[in-house]
Amino acid sequence: MDIVRRPRLRVELAGRHRELVLREAETAEILPLLLDPEQRFPAVVEGRLALEMAALIDTIDGEVPAEEQAQAIVASPAALAAVCQARNAFYDALVASGRVLAACPHCSVGEVELDLLFYWLTLRLPPYRLFDEGVLMGHPALADPLHGGSRPAGLTLARAIGFSYPAEQPLRGLLRPLVGRDGLAREDSAWQDVAAIERDDDHWHWTRSNTGFRAILRLSQGLAWADGRQATPEEIDRLPLGAYLFLDLLHFATTNVDVSDASRLSVSCPDCGGVFLPVMPTDA
Ligand SMILES: [Zn+2]
Repeated sequence: MDIVRRPRLRVELAGRHRELVLREAETAEILPLLLDPEQRFPAVVEGRLALEMAALIDTIDGEVPAEEQAQAIVASPAALAAVCQARNAFYDALVASGRVLAACPHCSVGEVELDLLFYWLTLRLPPYRLFDEGVLMGHPALADPLHGGSRPAGLTLARAIGFSYPAEQPLRGLLRPLVGRDGLAREDSAWQDVAAIERDDDHWHWTRSNTGFRAILRLSQGLAWADGRQATPEEIDRLPLGAYLFLDLLHFATTNVDVSDASRLSVSCPDCGGVFLPVMPTDA
């Protein structure tokens, strides 16, 4: 599926039609702006939305958007609705473009290619919404430790859950499950490293009280690149936002969800025909 990487839309602002072009933001431009429900006072919400709009809009009539233009969009219900609708469709398409590569546990070469829709259908999950009520960024599953999903006895799980994401620089790597004592110990040591870093303009959000950064730090602990190196929080900050959202949902589906109907989820290896479940172990 081809994605329009710079979707366009027309919006009326101050009585004039403007041509907007959207862009795929970096994770650190959007996720740390996330407001938990108890923080959503109208003035705070408007301020955060204006910052989000400035990061999500590439150009307005060919020019980089000014702060006042971002504020004007947030102040106009019709303009805000139009931009949110285009943004939501854009990010849904980006998230759907990620590919899951489930490695066969029965041979050393086979892998089964899947997408998020496969997991949502076979695990019968309610549809995911990236944005609450279509407006504010929703709560990432990775922001907090969740329990490991149950696994049926006697069925082999994937040797690894790999992924690819088609960005300007295509991404490839492996996810590992962030559950159990080992995972929590790794996170503790990552938080100690973070505590030693100065809060400059690039690191203003690097605190436990920032919900978006908790999710960023946890993904860094659960992601290894194709060369085997573990990801750093800086690298997750710079991930295309669609890749972050895809990996957040993929980790949730392959780690936190109980597998109750194994027959729907089973896949067979295209190389050796062996059958397995494309999820991660949760008893570590
Ligand atoms: Zn195989």
